[in-house]
Amino acid sequence: MPQKIICEGCDEVLLDDTKLRPPGEVIKELDGKCPHCGKELIFNPDKIEINIL
Ligand SMILES: [Zn+2]
Repeated sequence: MPQKIICEGCDEVLLDDTKLRPPGEVIKELDGKCPHCGKELIFNPDKIEINIL
């Protein structure tokens, strides 16, 4: 089940993984901000796009 997390600030794909991981854990690994544009990441299902196919 691929999972994808996309920054809403710059559309950078922050996570594109085949294994399902908690978004909160991923955000923590990224220090709570997008490494591309520096936008603060808040776990909000409305703001972080997660595609589970
Ligand atoms: Zn970004």
